[in-house]
Amino acid sequence: MDTQFVGSDAVADALEAMRKALGDDAVLTARADLDEFRDPFYVLGSAENDVSAAVMPTCVEEVQAVVRIASAHGVPLWTVSTGRNYGYGGAAPRVPGSILVNLSKMNRVLEINEELGYAVVEPGVRWFDLCEALEASGGKWWSSIPDLGWGSVVGNSLEYGRGHTRIGSHAENVAGMEVVLPNGELMRTGMGAMTGNKAWHAYPFGFGPMVDGLFFQSNLGIVTRIGWRLMPRPEKYASCWVHFDGDDIIVPVIDAMRDLMLDETINNYPFLGRGVAANTEGQPDLDPKSEKWALRFALYGYDEIVEAKWKIVERVLGSIPGVTLGRKMFDGTDRVGPQEGIHDDKVQAGIPGMELLDLYKVPFGPDTGHLDFSPVGPLIGSEVLKMVRLVRGMYEEFGEPYAAGMMLLPRSILVVSVMFFDPKDAEKTKKIYENYDPMLQRIAAEGYGLYRAHIFKMDAVAATFDFNDHAYLRFVETVKDAVDPNGILQAGKQGIWPKSLRGKAKS
Ligand SMILES: Cc1cc2nc3c(=O)[nH]c(=O)nc-3n(C[C@H](O)[C@H](O)[C@H](O)COP(=O)(O)OP(=O)(O)OC[C@H]3O[C@@H](n4cnc5c(N)ncnc54)[C@H](O)[C@@H]3O)c2cc1C
Repeated sequence: MDTQFVGSDAVADALEAMRKALGDDAVLTARADLDEFRDPFYVLGSAENDVSAAVMPTCVEEVQAVVRIASAHGVPLWTVSTGRNYGYGGAAPRVPGSILVNLSKMNRVLEINEELGYAVVEPGVRWFDLCEALEASGGKWWSSIPDLGWGSVVGNSLEYGRGHTRIGSHAENVAGMEVVLPNGELMRTGMGAMTGNKAWHAYPFGFGPMVDGLFFQSNLGIVTRIGWRLMPRPEKYASCWVHFDGDDIIVPVIDAMRDLMLDETINNYPFLGRGVAANTEGQPDLDPKSEKWALRFALYGYDEIVEAKWKIVERVLGSIPGVTLGRKMFDGTDRVGPQEGIHDDKVQAGIPGMELLDLYKVPFGPDTGHLDFSPVGPLIGSEVLKMVRLVRGMYEEFGEPYAAGMMLLPRSILVVSVMFFDPKDAEKTKKIYENYDPMLQRIAAEGYGLYRAHIFKMDAVAATFDFNDHAYLRFVETVKDAVDPNGILQAGKQGIWPKSLRGKAKS
């Protein structure tokens, strides 16, 4: 799928230097160790995007050493925090033969600020670790979390990952970063650019242009710590749902949800699912002919506020014909009740788990893989229905079941759908990846772009962002050439290539 860019002598020399700097144990080269970093959601056993080695730094100075050595030897690096980016490539690099910088050993929660409600974390801190630390410090603060607890706060946030509480827009929760630049220098963003600044993680801006955005979905640096906002534990939490049959009801439901989100009656990030992603009664809906949709959302706050909000929700959503509505109420201090409920109850209460991965294994057993197709649209009922029909029509054309898992923001929606396959079936797996290409072209032709993409599809997705002959890409490439002239960091990520490799990638 790609050209082999990496010279083996350069890699061997770089690895030797890394062993000297970090110690033998920090450099993995045994095939069995490296297999773990393959994308488990591609052809089982495929070596197409193998790394040549993995380094496991334990501190910032070691990350700096790795970057400087890679730069001196012209060897590409691919960074992961915990490497659980499943559905988008896992830990596998865009450029085969890259050295993987795996930050999972830098896993300290450096601070929990009890007054201001933020945590400071290293890249290897998983959702499980952060939530455990929050509980241990008294449980006054909740974190937002994605569906699975084994990924990292840093990796997920840098990918514009999403969670399902009031603070579920993860990139927006990042306040203040520390970054190792491609020349090995260490930089702090925002107020952190001042030595000893007291408001680094409390005030996200700094003095001058805000450069944090350059490190999201990017290849301009390795992020070694972030400030991360928390939400106060609410007195009450209501886990709510709306069920309906048939696509047409999407229109009034989405329009009502937009109003309820914009006026902050509902202030979490709701989720609308269908098929295996619709977690109606804790069970996936596997019937491909099923027309059932399940929307979940949450209400948080003082008892009186949650009750008042629920009355408004009942009035607005309950008046839509064909809709059934329900809720479960929990005390904010109750961490057992939501755990004993379904996945939705937990995830909207910031309690991490792994049960959704098990549900996603239903289609083809333990090896089940999936490829996510993730276009963004405006949160307007008629537009969402149009996107659903377009995407669903393509699944029908390809003879695949349509499973949707859509994330609502107050003004936009991620119309994510999931293509399931059995990675043991090489032909079928490759077909699924091929199906993605016409889907991308058709959705882009209608004016919708993707928010995230698998490593194999990054060039194709980047090409759809084509305004003024790709002015955006040319600007980012100019920045890339300036800060990473040797082109060592994350080559090809999001379709951004260093000068030396530009135009040479095959996909
Ligand atoms: C069943 C299922 C449910 C899922 N649900 C969700 C969900 O609810 N929300 C969601 O957002 N995703 C979801 N995902 C997708 C994915 O699993 C998560 O986003 C996961 O958290 C990402 O893995 P990670 O945190 O280990 O990131 P990593 O794999 O560590 O990082 C992802 C990418 O970010 C970049 N990166 C990572 N760390 C750094 C760093 N320190 N410096 C610079 N760049 C870096 C790299 O390009 C890397 O490839 C789901 C996946 C599955 C299979």
